[in-house]
Amino acid sequence: FWEISYNIAHLMHFIPLAISSAASVQHMQEMLDEPVRGADRPGAPDMPPVANDITFDRVSFHYEGSDTNVIEHLTLKLQAGKSIAIVGPSGSGKSTLLNLILRLYEPTEGRVTIDGVDARKVTRDSLRSHMAVVFQENMLFNMSIRENIRLGKQDATDAEVEAAARKAEIHRHIMTLPERYDTLVGERGDTLSGGQRQRIAIARAMVRNPSVLLLDEATSALDQTTEAAINHTLLKVAQGRTMIWSTHRLTSVVEMDEIIVMSEGRVVERGSHLELIAGNGLYRHLWDDQMHQPHRDESDEGEDDDD
Ligand code: ADP
Ligand code: MG
Repeated sequence: FWEISYNIAHLMHFIPLAISSAASVQHMQEMLDEPVRGADRPGAPDMPPVANDITFDRVSFHYEGSDTNVIEHLTLKLQAGKSIAIVGPSGSGKSTLLNLILRLYEPTEGRVTIDGVDARKVTRDSLRSHMAVVFQENMLFNMSIRENIRLGKQDATDAEVEAAARKAEIHRHIMTLPERYDTLVGERGDTLSGGQRQRIAIARAMVRNPSVLLLDEATSALDQTTEAAINHTLLKVAQGRTMIWSTHRLTSVVEMDEIIVMSEGRVVERGSHLELIAGNGLYRHLWDDQMHQPHRDESDEGEDDDD
């Protein structure tokens, strides 16, 4: 259950209040109350756009109701403007690390700083206004494509929505639909393929023009060809931003600036793909494992360019 509410918790922070009156969303809001912690401190200022590094300074974290640290004395610098992968086995703490950056949770020990400022000392809304998140499953509502993208930024103009769709390389596909941007996506977006839904979610993230783009297993559920096409799009949209991408799929991370390997809440290795593959550590081990797995393959609907 927490897995579901976890995703909803994330979603709700990136969806404007305008649609919270919908009954289903209200239900989510109730589920949301539980997992989110960390109210703003009185008088906390807003955070300016993120220009520099995100650091973890001896951070430990355990979820409430458990005394096992899932992040263990983590000290880590995530360099601004880089594309950074967080990899490691399931349960190693990758999603928790993203939670801490988003301040969905706060460290039980140590601190997370953004541009040198303790994330707890600014308003949560201002912190998140510089960030966007794409998940493995992103909730699409049975509204138009335009409205689904606009969930990322309530006051986005049509031109901004379209620019975001071009970045996500889904604009040309949208233009082939009968009602174009006004086409309804169906319940849970089921008139779209998995890859197209993911591109709408990327557009929803891009319309925020985030300085920090967070991805949590964003392409892990896709077939191999679609995964590769969307990875390519993501590396493009990450230009000029900090991209932090948590995934257990190593094929997604080969081209990234830096790969951070986690195991049981600790960083055990970091480096480029080639550096890590040359080592004989956990990364090399996971890589060899994944290379020996059979691949699924279906279709892809990536667009080569965005006109
Ligand atoms: P990963 O993303 O690497 O698979 P997670 O960060 O999701 O790992 O989880 C790290 C550990 O924390 C796991 O043992 C998981 O069971 C636990 N965990 C994650 N989220 C919660 C939660 N909301 N409540 C309790 N335990 C959690
Ligand atoms: Mg995870």
